[in-house]
Amino acid sequence: MYVECQRCLMNSEITQYFEVDEKGLCNYCRQYDREIEMLGEDNFRREYIYRKIEEIKKSSKNKPYDCIMGLSGGRDSSYLTWWLKKQGLRVLLVHLDNGWNSELAVHNINKLCRYTGFELYTHVIDWEEFRELQKAYIKAHVIDIEALTDHAIYAIILKLSAKHNIQYIISGMNITTESIMPKDWVHNKKDAVNILDIIKKNSRIKIRSYPYISFFKNLFYHFYYKIETVMPLNYINYNIMEADRVLKQEIGWVPYSRKHGESFFTNFYQNYILPVKFKVDKRYAHLSNLICAGQMTKEEAKRKLLEPLYESADLQADIEYFLKKMDMTIDEFNLYLKQPPVPHTYYKTDKVYWDRYFSIINFYKKLF
Ligand SMILES: [Zn+2]
Repeated sequence: MYVECQRCLMNSEITQYFEVDEKGLCNYCRQYDREIEMLGEDNFRREYIYRKIEEIKKSSKNKPYDCIMGLSGGRDSSYLTWWLKKQGLRVLLVHLDNGWNSELAVHNINKLCRYTGFELYTHVIDWEEFRELQKAYIKAHVIDIEALTDHAIYAIILKLSAKHNIQYIISGMNITTESIMPKDWVHNKKDAVNILDIIKKNSRIKIRSYPYISFFKNLFYHFYYKIETVMPLNYINYNIMEADRVLKQEIGWVPYSRKHGESFFTNFYQNYILPVKFKVDKRYAHLSNLICAGQMTKEEAKRKLLEPLYESADLQADIEYFLKKMDMTIDEFNLYLKQPPVPHTYYKTDKVYWDRYFSIINFYKKLF
């Protein structure tokens, strides 16, 4: 029987991890409300983040940078870069060029760097190697192909933090746009064991330069270098319309037509590969998130869902571009789309370590 949440777009057809309570509110809405409640009242949140900014400045007085952050060129990280400049912080920006950047992303990143004067470190990944890794993920039929990129940027930032003695990582992660995500639609991006096993079993390539970081190395960086991650967007009433307005007006930043339009691959993956092969339309989660944040009505969100994921002319051109860049034939690609997905847990994973780590962290959080 089809069941839909009273508040958001999540429903029983799109994920097996869906349930509603007696009020008709789904588990994702309840989780969103819990996360917002944990952050505290508006005043408390603002006070917390401004105090944290002062703490960051104080701790890095004699260092060249106050903090480090990843800049994809997307809305969240772009707005955060602008906001950090306003707070007078000196930020080392890190961008990962995985070969799939859209021209618009490059334009937006350049504009932001010119405006803020922040130093930008661009890590250009070895394309031939990265393509083989993406091909291994395709051959493996696992859902989270993006884990390769997300893991790499995380590893690069951690290593750079240690190298430059930067104690604070600023993250654009936020509850307003990224809290809702069914667990069968993604895999833990920090799971290096999973990444390495998928590659080992689906490719003959030996990793030469792909940046990755193991669970224990991760802990070492955090505890030995005392690296802390701060997520300011959770504390400043982040509003996406306001972010677009400010970025356009002050920087000349150009918005993307879709979330994650900054990368050709992410766009193609989210709007074609995910819906066709994995029967996943991430717009349900993104739009539900905005409904929970009070930044969109359910009616508006439903209208957005009626828009096609792809205009047909764009789709044809994008498939051709994807195949050429990946060195794949249309027959190989069509066969891939037809074959059933394989769960990430079919491969080795360090989930047991992460689960233990988080249960210890949560235990201590409850104590203090
Ligand atoms: Zn809901």
